[in-house]
Amino acid sequence: MQVHVGIAGAGLAGRLLAWRLLARGARVSLFDAAGRDDRGSAGPTAAAMLSPTAELAAADSRIHQLGLRSLQLWESWLVELHRLSGQQVYFRREGTLVVAHAADRGALAHYRGLLRAHLPGEPFEQMVRPADAQRIAELEPLLGGRFADGLFLPLEGQLANDQLYSALAAALDAALAACGGAWHERCPIERVLPDALLARDGTRHRFDLAVDCRGVGARGDIAGLHGVRGEVLTVAAPGVRLRRPVRLIHPRYALYVAPRPQGRFVVGATELDSEDDAPITLRSTLELGSALYSLHPEFGEARVLRLAAALRPALPDRQPLAAPDAQGVWRINGLFRHGYLIAPAVIEQAEAGVAAQLGLGRAGELPDAA
Ligand SMILES: Cc1cc2nc3c(=O)[nH]c(=O)nc-3n(C[C@H](O)[C@H](O)[C@H](O)COP(=O)(O)OP(=O)(O)OC[C@H]3O[C@@H](n4cnc5c(N)ncnc54)[C@H](O)[C@@H]3O)c2cc1C
Repeated sequence: MQVHVGIAGAGLAGRLLAWRLLARGARVSLFDAAGRDDRGSAGPTAAAMLSPTAELAAADSRIHQLGLRSLQLWESWLVELHRLSGQQVYFRREGTLVVAHAADRGALAHYRGLLRAHLPGEPFEQMVRPADAQRIAELEPLLGGRFADGLFLPLEGQLANDQLYSALAAALDAALAACGGAWHERCPIERVLPDALLARDGTRHRFDLAVDCRGVGARGDIAGLHGVRGEVLTVAAPGVRLRRPVRLIHPRYALYVAPRPQGRFVVGATELDSEDDAPITLRSTLELGSALYSLHPEFGEARVLRLAAALRPALPDRQPLAAPDAQGVWRINGLFRHGYLIAPAVIEQAEAGVAAQLGLGRAGELPDAA
């Protein structure tokens, strides 16, 4: 009989895990507190930069290694997802440019030192290249003449998370229909047991295995799990051209600008150790806007499309969790500020563990959405 897996949380981790387990022949059912197109959780709010090197300023070499592996996986997974869903997901690997205003040269040197501390010797030279005014202008003509000091991190990438969510939903719909599974929207799960999900409406859903992918929704069930607030501004500036994510180093806050298709840019900065998920503050809006304007005044005419805040699921050691707990409940969580960067490698490990536990075979062909 086909093994049935219940997944609580259809965010980044839940969607990816569902897709991989369906490809291994499992029947899957997904449960989410929100609708599939709701944008309130971390996954749809994120900038979705894939920055194994730049993140070393706030992470360690394990995250870096998971990020490098995930970049390889994204390359092949997104090709497969395109075939299955018929939807192309914007994905680029053209590196990250880090720049600083002349007055912030010291902050840039400090940032470079943080990266070097994790990347001794040759890898550092390959992954962190100096960028003077001429190199900055070659890489991003928009910024030519504005910055004399920077770093180029060539291995990095980015993707459009709204497109990823949509493509995963289409691929999952087709595969869930084929296996007799279901996607239960607006169905919050109160408790995850090794073989059952207890819904808030009192229903007990039984499975061969249940997996908890509820992000910050699992607070209280995972020791130390908490939310770390992040805020982003999305603007449309069709005349402004950037090829790759740009990070602006500043002594008080570091701004990032991630270009998206159709002249859109996702702009973020603040990481607040706060569990407040209320709307973005005026102060943050002003800081983000003025830092963006200081990157280039052409952003002054940009149209604000969205201001959003969400909680990143974080564990005290800032490491991801993908394992059964002492009661045998599989939990995937703690992706923190690196979810898009590391999710494929984390899910690959979880998928292998779940498959071994359930005796699932290797990944095969899924039905496409057409
Ligand atoms: C502002 C911001 C910027 C970011 N930028 C980046 C970036 O540039 N690069 C990067 O790699 N990462 C980034 N991240 C981090 C990334 O978004 C997260 O690491 C990732 O989304 C975590 O995935 P998840 O599936 O564990 O949690 P989530 O994406 O939060 O998904 C959890 C899901 O569980 C559902 N849920 C919650 N409670 C329940 C319940 N009781 N029952 C059922 N379902 C439930 C939610 O509705 C949601 O769908 C950013 C995050 C934020 C907030």
